[in-house]
Amino acid sequence: MRAAILWDDRALLDVRDDVAVVGLGARDVRLQVVASGICHTDLSVQNGTIPHARPCVLGHEAAGIVVEVGAGVNDVTPGDHVIVASVPMCGKCADCVAGRPNLCRSVQAPTPRHFAVAGQHVPGVFGSGSFAEEMIVSADAVVPVAADLPLDLACLIGCGVMTGVGAAINSARIAPGSSVVVFGLGGVGMAAIQGARIAGAAEILAVDPQATKHAIARRLGASLAVTPAELADTIRALTGGHGFDYALECVGSGAVIRQAFDATRRGGTTVVVGVGRSDDIVPFSAYELFYSEKLLRGSMYGGANIHRDFDRLVKLWRCGKLDLDTLISRRFSLEEINAAFEVVASGEAIRCVIQLAPAGA
Ligand code: NAD
Ligand code: ZN
Repeated sequence: MRAAILWDDRALLDVRDDVAVVGLGARDVRLQVVASGICHTDLSVQNGTIPHARPCVLGHEAAGIVVEVGAGVNDVTPGDHVIVASVPMCGKCADCVAGRPNLCRSVQAPTPRHFAVAGQHVPGVFGSGSFAEEMIVSADAVVPVAADLPLDLACLIGCGVMTGVGAAINSARIAPGSSVVVFGLGGVGMAAIQGARIAGAAEILAVDPQATKHAIARRLGASLAVTPAELADTIRALTGGHGFDYALECVGSGAVIRQAFDATRRGGTTVVVGVGRSDDIVPFSAYELFYSEKLLRGSMYGGANIHRDFDRLVKLWRCGKLDLDTLISRRFSLEEINAAFEVVASGEAIRCVIQLAPAGA
């Protein structure tokens, strides 16, 4: 079958047709991948922002159809349509039972080796390894969905939409009538804007240097969209300089985290959603952390409980409150994946989706 391999000595992904999926374990599921979105995090592994073992298969925002299940799997059967969670939940570890399944400890286990090229194992996958026609994932990572849900839209729920909507609802806990600023209008930020709207925010400011995305942000729920250069004037105009109740950083930059903290009102909440470099230091003074009484928190995978939240997100899509179609800017075949990565790197797109099979429905 075909898959895109990231070798350690090559910058580009190598799309080849001599890849095999191997080693279906008792609690594993083999899937036909139908569609996989490209998340900025895939790019961050490719360009070294996130250190990761290579060679590897990238891709972690996927939906597909179950082909085969291990002997110990009875939650799904062949033919089931599923969304693949970028963070599985085992439901049994201390964090899962404490209500923090997005921090599931089973994820800390070594990455299984489920791909082979010419008989040699590919040692790493990042996420699930969904830039492949088939993949093997833990049964803890798949959530069945109704067969009428188009899988090219459904895949977005697997990472970007869960992360953005979840950051607004689960992590920030945005209150009705509040004011929100969202930095970064990629798949994650556009989902955060929708999450803020769904939570009942009264005022939602979107910030991104790509002005071409501003109209789409307004369509998805932002009351106003500006470039970073216009931010200071906008904070003064909208909040009298006091700042927003909530600021969500969906870029992955220390400098933007600092801007988001500064754009938060005293006593408000700043949520770090973007994944930055480990050496990108954000300066905070000891005094301001006390005096501002701001809550600064991270948000890993939107605080997801995948079995609760995927169902909620599908229901919100069905009733027209969550727009998934608008999030897809462009579709590519697996052969075109390097061109798709360039589009993601340019910041022009919201989501680019790799279509591996007809989406159905
Ligand atoms: P993306 O590349 O699609 O979008 C990023 C956007 O940020 C672009 O529109 C870009 O123009 C904008 N941007 C760049 N500089 C900016 C600035 N100074 N101010 C405001 N906007 C700016 O990325 P994405 O896929 O939406 O992911 C966003 C971030 O979230 C990435 O860092 C990604 O790794 C991270 N992420 C985090 C989680 C999580 O669990 N917390 C999950 C998925 C993705
Ligand atoms: Zn992601």
